[in-house]
Amino acid sequence: MKSESVEISRILKNYDLCEYCVGRLISKLLGKSPSKLLGKKYLKKFGKSSNAKCYVCKNIFENLDSMLSNIFEKLNNLDFKTFNLGLILKNSFLERDDLIKSKFKIKGIENIKFGISTEMAKKISRTTKSKRIMNDPDLFIQVNFKDESSTIRTKPIFVYGRYNKKIRKLPQKQMLCKSCNGVGCHNCNFKGLENIETIEGKISNFLIKKFEGNQVKINWIGGEDQSSLVLGNGRPFFAKILNPKKRNRILRKSSNLESILLSELKKILLQPKGSIPFKSKVSIIIDTEKPILVTHLKKLDILHNAKIYDPSKDKKSSNKQIYQIHYKKLGKTSFRLDLFADGGIPIKLFIQTSDVTPNISQLLGNNCQCRKIDFKNIIV
Ligand SMILES: [Zn+2]
Ligand SMILES: [Zn+2]
Repeated sequence: MKSESVEISRILKNYDLCEYCVGRLISKLLGKSPSKLLGKKYLKKFGKSSNAKCYVCKNIFENLDSMLSNIFEKLNNLDFKTFNLGLILKNSFLERDDLIKSKFKIKGIENIKFGISTEMAKKISRTTKSKRIMNDPDLFIQVNFKDESSTIRTKPIFVYGRYNKKIRKLPQKQMLCKSCNGVGCHNCNFKGLENIETIEGKISNFLIKKFEGNQVKINWIGGEDQSSLVLGNGRPFFAKILNPKKRNRILRKSSNLESILLSELKKILLQPKGSIPFKSKVSIIIDTEKPILVTHLKKLDILHNAKIYDPSKDKKSSNKQIYQIHYKKLGKTSFRLDLFADGGIPIKLFIQTSDVTPNISQLLGNNCQCRKIDFKNIIV
């Protein structure tokens, strides 16, 4: 007998093993890839039964189908083309596997965990016509053999879009429930959020419904007061939809959510990291404490290309600029200010008396208040 046959017979004499584990453990000795068929062949050759309880895996391979049918049920209503899976297995499986490997000096073969996941992945691929990939799969299946459970997480979907806000008194962001501070209570239906309409809520609901996700996280390109309108081409935003069930749904370019209008909607591969610089065109109606004259307003001309310093921010992030400024007297104590400026300038503080410099109230020597701030355009 050749030396590898001697080795194989030694293993099989000492241990009862299943076809899968034999195929795996002897594959390297024979220079073949591990398979159930290879195991079957050698069990037969050495006159061993393939029904005995496997020392390494306790015949776990025969019980994969019940675990798989549970997984298939969960996969049934999900859109996916690719998946990956991970196993949680009792350590004793790996310990027994290692023991045999070290006893017979078997090196360079896949371990029992790898063997099980390869077998499961093969069956999942075949049944669902999908492919197992390691990098960025549509979904990840976690199989826990300790308690015989499985969980499935799907890859988030990223969406870019813009919104136009056509009514006043609609806040941008959702606020935590005042009764429970986000924990969840009867007042907020255990959502942890104030039960008021917001732009965030409207966009989130729309995207949750569309992709059947759990939750939406929005990355805003700037923000506005609840009383401000957003006109022109709208304010851009990036949304991340967590755990979507239906990733293949068609997303139309625009969608009318009544008080807000979504446009330029599209799925994107990744959300940009960090904050995105942008410029906005803003129109502000300002009320002054004392009467205002056009000659006073001319003092504002020095604001062309002025840098704005906000002492509440660090130096780097307060380096924002105004590019253009126009003004028009509207009444005895009011005027309109049109700005084209970097996004993120604290507009109210720039107009009211504050530490922000330069400052409109200071320049005019007249206390100013914003009556209305509307966004005419936002450019990324
Ligand atoms: Zn086995
Ligand atoms: Zn609450």
